[in-house]
Amino acid sequence: MVPQVVQDALNEQIQREFYAAYLYLSMSAYFESLNLPGFARWLRVQSQEEVEHAMRIFNFVNERGGRVVLKAIPQPPAEFESPLAAMQAALDHERRVTGYINELYELALQEKDYPTQVMLHWFIEEQVEEEQITGQVVERLKVIGDDPAALLVMDNVMAQREEE
Ligand code: MG
Repeated sequence: MVPQVVQDALNEQIQREFYAAYLYLSMSAYFESLNLPGFARWLRVQSQEEVEHAMRIFNFVNERGGRVVLKAIPQPPAEFESPLAAMQAALDHERRVTGYINELYELALQEKDYPTQVMLHWFIEEQVEEEQITGQVVERLKVIGDDPAALLVMDNVMAQREEE
C-alpha cells in the first residue's frame, strides 16, 4: 500500500501534470493564432508528453493498490505577451514542477516508501531534460528578439519535432 500522505501527494502531482498538458495546449493555440504552426506543433507534442506523465503516476497509484482521485484542472492563460513570454512561462512552469517532484521525493524518503522513490527517479531525470529543452527554446527566442525572419526560420525548426 502507498502511505496515505504519499498517495495524496501523488494525486496532487497527477493534477499538476494534467495542468501542464492544458497549459501547453493553450500555448499551442496561442501560437496557431500567430500563424506559427511549428511552435504550435512543438507545444502540442509537449502537451501529449504531460498527459503521459500524469498517466504514469495514475498507473503507479493503481498498481500499488492506492486510490486515484482526480482534481479540477484550473483554466490556463489563453493570451501571452509574445512568443518569448509564452515559452518563458513554460520554462517557469517546468521549474515549479521540478520543485514539486523534489518535494515528493523528500516525502517518499521520510515515509520510507521505496517504490515511490524508484518511480520518481524517472521524473527527476525527465525534469532535467524538460528544463534543458524548454530553456534552449527561450534562449533562442532571446537571440531572435524582434527579427520576424529569424522567428519564421525557428518556427520551421520547431515543426520538426516528432511525436513520441
Ligand atoms: Mg511533466
